[in-house]
Amino acid sequence: MKSLKDQDPELFGYLEQETERQNYNFELIASENFASKATISAMGSVLTNKYAEGYPGKRYYGGCEFVDKAEELARERAKKLFKCDYVNVQPHSGASANAAIYLAFMKPGETLLGLDLAHGGHLTHGSPVNFSGITYNAEFYGVEKETGRIDMDKVREKAKKVKPKMISIGASAYTRDFDYKTFRDIADEVGAFLWMDMAHTAGLIAAGELNDPLPVCDVVSTTTHKTLRGPRGGMILVGKDGENKLGVVARKSGRTKNWSEVLDSAVFPGSQGGPLMHVIAAKAVAFGEALQPEFITYQKQVKINAKAMAEEFMAKGYNLVSDGTDNHLILVDLRSKGLNGQIAEESLDRAGITVNKNMVPFDTESPFVTSGIRIGTPALTTRGFGEIEFKEVVRLIDTVLQNPEDESVAESVKADVREMCENFPLYDFVTA
Ligand SMILES: *Cc1c(COP(=O)(O)O)cnc(C)c1O
Repeated sequence: MKSLKDQDPELFGYLEQETERQNYNFELIASENFASKATISAMGSVLTNKYAEGYPGKRYYGGCEFVDKAEELARERAKKLFKCDYVNVQPHSGASANAAIYLAFMKPGETLLGLDLAHGGHLTHGSPVNFSGITYNAEFYGVEKETGRIDMDKVREKAKKVKPKMISIGASAYTRDFDYKTFRDIADEVGAFLWMDMAHTAGLIAAGELNDPLPVCDVVSTTTHKTLRGPRGGMILVGKDGENKLGVVARKSGRTKNWSEVLDSAVFPGSQGGPLMHVIAAKAVAFGEALQPEFITYQKQVKINAKAMAEEFMAKGYNLVSDGTDNHLILVDLRSKGLNGQIAEESLDRAGITVNKNMVPFDTESPFVTSGIRIGTPALTTRGFGEIEFKEVVRLIDTVLQNPEDESVAESVKADVREMCENFPLYDFVTA
């Protein structure tokens, strides 16, 4: 058989260009990271060929003995990593994991209480353009204008008013940690399930660098490709398995199902077909990496770097939502600098710096323009950047934002970006 390069030079060329882009730009999108060569290698394996509907030991297809082992390995490592009773490693993505959770916990038309998208929440937490907002009645809590933080008394007030069936925690652009215990109290007071979507923060949580939702929440979902640094995919976890509170809904042939059974069937056959066995194998590899002591060192550095960036931005007169960060990301409100998110994103892009425009709470611009940018440290920390490098990153960002239209500034910053990237090499391959 031919290599990819020989078989399809056109496509291979695009892969070469994308590898070059990742190698020589500052990747600051908070949801992105760089998977290891080993992880990428597992994804590019013959496991993509295998149909394995069902679960290890209970498949609907023959020939599953080796993929069963791979999935078991992923599950066992994930359970060890998050110290929990149950995981399902089959969700194709974070959104797919969340779809299965809704299917398991809610009937169409029931009420979800989640963090407002405009305040850092995620589309799958009830946005009207997403299945979650279309199928369920979505109500929202937000952050305070003055502090940029969630006020738990307001969450309680709202929960008492709307009586949700489920409360979601978790965000794509929230810079502070969550108070799971108070969320738990509120959920218990109104009789709601409690779901944490740790898509962004799973790596920090695994390393003990943020509060742990697993002992407190009924169910937890995540992606595997953000701070967790694995292949693109999703996962569902339960801290303590056992007879679930769904009781009546889940009762079948006179017995109550366990969490694990309800969630397993919500993933397959409830919302997915055959699992992506090559991706599940890559999840096993990444979880193996995450169980090494270096992973904790890495996550600590992710946080240290985010703090260093936050301080440097504030020293340069930028406004940050919540005036800082507890995690891997910062949200810069550009209004005081007379800029918007769109201009900032585009001008930084020209200089080899990749960020995303982002709504800030109480934004006065449209979602397409926005007043802010979201900046995360996971990817560049994987390259080996420390505090000194991140302060230099802020200096280069500031240089561009002071002259957003100036081509020559963009050119000279781009050269500096490239030089720094050359000192912290990333990928020496196009396909693993
Ligand atoms: C990224 C993210 C998701 C969705 O993950 P995909 O893999 O892109 O589907 C869900 N929830 C939150 C909070 C996220 O940040």
